[in-house]
Amino acid sequence: PQSDIAILIPGQINRRVTERLEARYTVIPVERGATLPLDAATAATVRGAAVSGSFPTGWFDALPNLEIIGNFGVGYDGVDVRAAAERKIVVTNTPDVLNDEVADTTIGLLLNTLRRLPQAENYLRAGRWVAEGAFPLSPLSLRSRHVGLFGLGRIGLEIARRLEAFKVKVSYHTRTPRTDVAYDHFASLAALAEAVDTLICIVPKTVETHKAVDAAIFRALGANGVFINVGRGWSVDEEALAAALADKTIAAAGLDVFYDEPNVPEALLGFDNVSLLPHVASASVPTRQAMADLVADNILDWFDKGAARTPVPETPFRSG
Ligand code: NDP
Repeated sequence: PQSDIAILIPGQINRRVTERLEARYTVIPVERGATLPLDAATAATVRGAAVSGSFPTGWFDALPNLEIIGNFGVGYDGVDVRAAAERKIVVTNTPDVLNDEVADTTIGLLLNTLRRLPQAENYLRAGRWVAEGAFPLSPLSLRSRHVGLFGLGRIGLEIARRLEAFKVKVSYHTRTPRTDVAYDHFASLAALAEAVDTLICIVPKTVETHKAVDAAIFRALGANGVFINVGRGWSVDEEALAAALADKTIAAAGLDVFYDEPNVPEALLGFDNVSLLPHVASASVPTRQAMADLVADNILDWFDKGAARTPVPETPFRSG
């Protein structure tokens, strides 16, 4: 190993990231916390970090030679990119390698929500098919729906392409219309919600998307409305969602992400017309392996070639 380069790993990360980095560098695993648990001399050897979830902003000043932070995941809201950019530290994420998996999971969550497939399986397993006869018809269906995508980036586009095969109409809202798709673009989320009966949220966690999906959006979706979130819980007012479900402002919801993970509001657990997943949209062994490889390849390329593979737009730096 080039043991003169140390890579910090705060908290848990996929084994494959650690294994690939250990083959080349000195890997230093540490607990995540308010202060960096390293003495100044050791901290000075750290030139890279690999993180899953978040990097403590307070650690930047304690790591004078940090050059790169490899974020495990396409959403990099857990890393303070402004603090990194000020110090010319490159931040990388894992775009594209998870698009298909996340889009597949979104379709699964949508169908589970509409057709109540998890409830139907539980019914069979509980012996109720034998005891009580056929499972009740699902009140909702994907047939004839008009699906609105809040976000049509790398993942949103894969969701849209899959929805085409399901023969439903697709529209979307983004700040900038895409020039390479024929779907109807709506200039505001409110206008999109008014036009569609099914809303899928796949936008990043930013200042602008905070609680963007609120009571007014649920009212616009209407009584046949279905809300699916695979982006970030941050983008939804969960209290307004629970209220909209309780008073039947909307018909159902499917959620993979929550405001304060892993805590899911008690109110949401109580509804039978809600399908809940523990943030698993990209969580298969093959896809997580591809993400782990991209984290490692970014760090290896940085030190071997002077440029990371997938730097985020806010930190377009090269080394040297
Ligand atoms: P992209 O950056 O490719 O796409 C983001 C999309 O959101 C773009 O269409 C963008 O369009 C739109 N967008 C961003 N800000 C706004 C805004 N304020 N208003 C309206 N639209 C907005 O990201 P990805 O598709 O790769 O990933 C999206 C997010 O999905 C990630 O950031 C992550 O948080 C989440 N995610 C969740 C996973 C899970 O496990 N559940 C797995 C993977 C990702 P425009 O800029 O024109 O507005």
